[in-house]
Amino acid sequence: MATRVLLVGGGVAALEAALALRDLGEGRVSVEMLAPEPQFWYRPLAVAEPFGLGEVRHFDLAELAAAAGATFSPGALSGVDAVGGLVQTSAGSTVPYDILLVACGAGPSPAVPGALTFRGPADTERIRQLLEEIVAGQVGRVAFVVPWGAVWSLPLYELALMTAAYVAERGLDRVELALVTPEEEPLQLFGRAGSEAVRQLLEQRGIALHTGSWPVEFVDGELRLVPEEKIAVDRVVALPRLRGPRIDGLPQTVDGFLPVDAHGQVHGVADVFAAGDITNFPVKQGGIAAQQADAAAEMIAATAGADLTPQPFRPVLRGLLLTGGQPRYLRHEITGGAGDVAAASPEPLWWPPAKIVGRYLAPFLAAFAGVESPPEPPATPGAIPVEVEFERETIEGLAAPRPEVGAAAEGEDGATVADAMSTDPLVVAPEDTLGEVAEKMHARDLGSALVGDYGRLIGVLTARDLLRAFAGRAHPSEARVREWMTAEPVTVSAATPIEAAVTLMTEYGFHHLPVVDDERPVGMLGLRQAARQTHARTRIGLGF
Ligand SMILES: Cc1cc2nc3c(=O)[nH]c(=O)nc-3n(C[C@H](O)[C@H](O)[C@H](O)COP(=O)(O)OP(=O)(O)OC[C@H]3O[C@@H](n4cnc5c(N)ncnc54)[C@H](O)[C@@H]3O)c2cc1C
Repeated sequence: MATRVLLVGGGVAALEAALALRDLGEGRVSVEMLAPEPQFWYRPLAVAEPFGLGEVRHFDLAELAAAAGATFSPGALSGVDAVGGLVQTSAGSTVPYDILLVACGAGPSPAVPGALTFRGPADTERIRQLLEEIVAGQVGRVAFVVPWGAVWSLPLYELALMTAAYVAERGLDRVELALVTPEEEPLQLFGRAGSEAVRQLLEQRGIALHTGSWPVEFVDGELRLVPEEKIAVDRVVALPRLRGPRIDGLPQTVDGFLPVDAHGQVHGVADVFAAGDITNFPVKQGGIAAQQADAAAEMIAATAGADLTPQPFRPVLRGLLLTGGQPRYLRHEITGGAGDVAAASPEPLWWPPAKIVGRYLAPFLAAFAGVESPPEPPATPGAIPVEVEFERETIEGLAAPRPEVGAAAEGEDGATVADAMSTDPLVVAPEDTLGEVAEKMHARDLGSALVGDYGRLIGVLTARDLLRAFAGRAHPSEARVREWMTAEPVTVSAATPIEAAVTLMTEYGFHHLPVVDDERPVGMLGLRQAARQTHARTRIGLGF
C-alpha cells in the first residue's frame, strides 16, 4: 500500500514538495494537501503593485494540487498526535497520515508600533495611499525599516528604491527618504559585493541609510531607535516580524518556528517533517522554502522505499542583484492628454524578477499559467550575480540581529541575574512523559522545567504548556516533553544585568527565563524574584 503523505499548507513549500514527491516517489506515495485557503498566492509582485508595475497572481489550489498528482482538502492544522499518526484541524476533525510535512508558512505580525506594516498584497492600497499623500505634499519624510528577527528584507529595499524613483520622476525633490536596518551592512545576506552595490544604489537615489539601528516605535512624528536615536519623519513603513502558528503537539520556538534537521525532520518527532517559513531557518524566502521542501521530499520518498540517497538541505540564495545602469526604475509614457503614466520598468532590483526559484515549482507554474520560460536577465551594467551558500555555522547570524539585552536597560546598580536566579532548576529529559514532569513540578512547587539533552539546554516546559497539553487531551503517560516544550528558548547568562532580563521577560510576556553557562542550564530566573531585585524601571523596550 502507498505511504500516505499529508502536506499541510498550500504555498511554495507544500507545492514544491508535492511535485518533488511525484517525481521521486516511484508511485510509492499518495499525497494529500490540507490548507485553509482555496488559492495559491504568488506574492513577490506585491511590492510592485502600488506603483502599477505588476500584479499579485493567484491560482486555484485544488487544480494545482491535481496537476501535481495530489488531492486537496480544505482545513487548518491545529495539532498533531504524533503517536497516533493524526493531525487535528481547527474545525475539530482528524486526518490520518503515515508521514506528515508541515509547510503552513509564517504569519506577519506588526513589529514597530505606529508604523505602516507592509505584509504583502493586503497592503498594496495603503502604500498607494502613501504615494498619493507624498504627491499631494502631505507627507515629506518617510522611513523604511527592517525589524530584527527572521524576515526576507529585500521587498523593503525594493519599496524604498521604487518610492525614490517615483518621487524623482515627479520632480518632488524635497521628499526625504531613509532606510533603517539592524544589519551592519544593507542586504547583508547578499555578501559584501551585494551590500556595497545596494549601499551605492541607496546613495544614488538619495536614501539616507541607518545601519546597526533597531526600530522601536513611531510616535509623535518620531521614529525611536536603539541605540539612542530619533529620526523625525511623517510616516514609517516597516516589514512585519514573522511568527509560526501555534501547533499543539510539536516543539516550537518562542516565535512559533519548528526546529528541523538538515532533512527537514522535526527534532525528536518521528515521521514529521517541516519546510519553508514555518521552520527555524532564519531566512524566509521562497527559493529557500523550495530547497527545504526538496530535501524533505527526498527523505520522505526514501523512507517510503524509493531508490535514492536523500541529500541534506544546502541553502543557497541565487539570483542576480541588479544595481541599475541608470538611476531610473520607472519610465514615463505620455498618454495623449491623459497625463503621465508610469509604466513597467525593465530594472528590477533582483533577478529573476518577482519569481520564486523552485526546482519543480518554477517550470510547473510557468506551464500552468501558460507563460513561456522567463526572459534572459537584462544586460545591465554592474549587475552582481548572487550565489551565497550559507554555512551551517553561520546560519544563526542570518536573521536581522536582536538588540543586546544589556543595551536596553537603564539605571543599573550592578545587580545581575546571578543575584536573583534559583540555582537548582528542575532539568528534565525530552523523552520524559508529561505526567512524570507534572509530578516533579508539583512536588517542588515549580512553574517550569528546563529541558536538557546531553547537558545542553534545548527547551523549556511551563505549567501553561502542561495545561495546553492536557486540555488538548494529551495522555500524561504517552505525550512527551519534546512535543510540547518551547524549543530554542530565549536565555540569559548569570552576568546579564537584572533590568535587562526583566525587560526581556516583560516584552515577551515570560514568567521564567532559563539561565545558561555556554549552553549548559545553570539556573532559572522567575519574574517575581527578578522584579524584587530591581526597582529601576526600563526605559526602552525591544519594540514588540
Ligand atoms: C511581499 C513579499 C514578497 C516576496 N518576494 C519574494 C521573492 O521575490 N522571491 C522569493 O523567493 N520569496 C519572496 N517572498 C517570500 C516567500 O513568499 C515566502 O518565503 C514563501 O512563500 C514561503 O513559502 P511557505 O510554503 O513556507 O509559506 P507560504 O507560501 O506562505 O504558504 C503557507 C501555506 O500554508 C497555509 N496555512 C496557513 N496556516 C495553515 C494551517 N493552520 N493549516 C494548514 N495550512 C495553513 C496557507 O494558506 C498557505 O497555503 C516574498 C514574501 C512577501 C510577503
